[in-house]
Amino acid sequence: MDLNLDEVEKICADLYLRALQLLPPDIKAGFSELQRTETDATGQAILGTMVENIKVAERTRNILCQDTGIPIYNITIGRNVTFDGAGLKEAVRRGAARSTRENSLRSSVVHPITRKNDQNSCGIRVPVIHIDFDDREETVSIEMIPKGSGSENGSFLKMLLPSDGITAVKRFVVDRVIELGGRVCPPTIVGVGIGGTSDLCMHLAKIAATRPLRMACEDAEGAKIEAELSRAVNELGIGPQGLGGRSTSFAVHVEVAATHITQNPVAVNIQCHSARRARATLTPGGIAFS
Ligand code: SF4
Repeated sequence: MDLNLDEVEKICADLYLRALQLLPPDIKAGFSELQRTETDATGQAILGTMVENIKVAERTRNILCQDTGIPIYNITIGRNVTFDGAGLKEAVRRGAARSTRENSLRSSVVHPITRKNDQNSCGIRVPVIHIDFDDREETVSIEMIPKGSGSENGSFLKMLLPSDGITAVKRFVVDRVIELGGRVCPPTIVGVGIGGTSDLCMHLAKIAATRPLRMACEDAEGAKIEAELSRAVNELGIGPQGLGGRSTSFAVHVEVAATHITQNPVAVNIQCHSARRARATLTPGGIAFS
């Protein structure tokens, strides 16, 4: 399969808008679950308002939140796909800029020193583009994540000592959730990276925060910790938008990587209740959006 870059540009533009307007089904199911279990009246009321906001955005084709985020594109390329790599990255960038222009989106991206905004949701190394490969035949998937700033500001890394053990890792996560309170627009997905190098650990936390709900960590030890932490953070009483209740998080997600014998890194990255994500899968048979 030959990857058509004009098609990629259009898909990347469409995905940006689609992600901003439609919450993925797993997050909607997560809201239903929290509404079933929330015991606090204020928490219930706020969850109800959030669910109504999601419905109105869908009905009126409006965006879910004014924060258009930093655009992230995760591209996975299968076997027997031919493409121009540099051209692919350019096409993604053109797609993000085109969506911003054609849909009159707020550009939330600025130069980090001058704070200049080119009004196209692009800048140095932004959109963030990750390219990976898998063994699916003639298949390319493009996932778009507009990462909101309120939750992205809830990012932390700590290089703990091996002697601190896993107890310190868990304490670090719970302490950060307490420290953040309502600032990250709960209910959240708390993404936790354990292991790796410092940069890999932070990246794992982002993968965890943007992973669909109800997918457990593939590592059995990681899965045990995420179940334990998911229970713990919902005992804190922070609740939706930090105004009280059980529904502090949809879940805590953990991703792990091997690390150095003298290291014990842990990272936290938060995804807010506007946990936006959109995907297109390209095959010789056509394009499917999900
Ligand atoms: S953190 Fe999420 S819900 Fe809050 S303002 Fe940003 S995108 Fe919107």
